[in-house]
Amino acid sequence: MILVSDSKAQYEAIKPEIDGAIQRVLDSGWFVLGKEVVAFEAEFATWNDNKYAVGVGNGTDAIALALRAVGIGPGDEVITTTHTATFGVLGISMAGATPVLCDINPATGNIDPSQIVARITSRTKAIMPVHLYGAPAEMEPILAIADQHGLVVVEDCAQAHGAEYKGRKVGTLGRIAAFSFYPSKNLGAFGDGGLVATDERALADMVTALRNGGQEGRYNHVYKGVNSRLDELHAAMLRVKLAHLDEWNRRRGELACYYHGKLEGIPGLALLPGPLGGKSVYHLYVVKVEEGRRAALQEHLTKRGVATTIHYPTPVHLQPAYRDLEQGVGSFPHAEAFAQACLSLPLYPEMTQAQQDTVVAAVREFFS
Ligand SMILES: *Cc1c(COP(=O)(O)O)cnc(C)c1O
Repeated sequence: MILVSDSKAQYEAIKPEIDGAIQRVLDSGWFVLGKEVVAFEAEFATWNDNKYAVGVGNGTDAIALALRAVGIGPGDEVITTTHTATFGVLGISMAGATPVLCDINPATGNIDPSQIVARITSRTKAIMPVHLYGAPAEMEPILAIADQHGLVVVEDCAQAHGAEYKGRKVGTLGRIAAFSFYPSKNLGAFGDGGLVATDERALADMVTALRNGGQEGRYNHVYKGVNSRLDELHAAMLRVKLAHLDEWNRRRGELACYYHGKLEGIPGLALLPGPLGGKSVYHLYVVKVEEGRRAALQEHLTKRGVATTIHYPTPVHLQPAYRDLEQGVGSFPHAEAFAQACLSLPLYPEMTQAQQDTVVAAVREFFS
């Protein structure tokens, strides 16, 4: 089976390095928030052109803590896209704030900046663009709107480590940014992990305190923080992977380009355009399938040994957990249509051209 993403193939490609890192941590006898975390934070900040990086337990916490650090909490509204991993929106809820959802650009799947202004109220404090599928959101209009209305921009970079917008890394465009190291992400841990990046010392200090019980110094709990610490094992393995990330992202770009050339022009199948104003790191290769045929295509591909997934089948506003937003079917038509059409094909750096040819042949066979 050709998987949509293959963490095991990646481990096998760098096994000696990973095993060495694990052994180093086990031998050190120190397992939570230690030397490896400090080193990883410094290396990640340098790699991403941020002044500060703070490792946390997962990407959802990274969002919640980033929001809390910029002073967002109960009574505040944060505007974000409805077509995303619901976890990101849960991060807003966990900070105590209210998510205000917004429709997408039907071509890219990313938040539609032209629909943001209408969602702003007197309670709006922030906009959280998501760089979905590895492609940067349209940041220029988003930053202009934020500037005009005095809003903070918090970037959800969970799917876009290394993506660029107009020559700048995502995570450096807003005031603070959240990353996830869930195993399938472009930079994936062997378990859960996350990180908050910013250029502001005070915000980094606040997240550093919040992630560790709100402590400033030991046994001095200044805030009602959380337990969202990054493990030494994860940090040590992430350091190994970070050194490979640019090469892996380059390979993802190559694979996406190859798919694009081979899948263009198939009636019934729509490809996403390249990112608007930037560089995608192709966390996922998503296509749109003609109405009513997606399930049949998935079934056909499964029979040919090709796995697929749907990112995401249900927009956030239609999730039972967000029924309280009172936005039923029809609230965000572009996102609802996208959710019905999108399909993620296999794409990961270790994928071979022969595997890609298998995917392409199976897709073409279905539509012929
Ligand atoms: C993965 C993801 C998250 C959540 O990250 P976790 O590490 O799984 O908590 C948030 N937002 C987006 C867009 C994601 O893809």
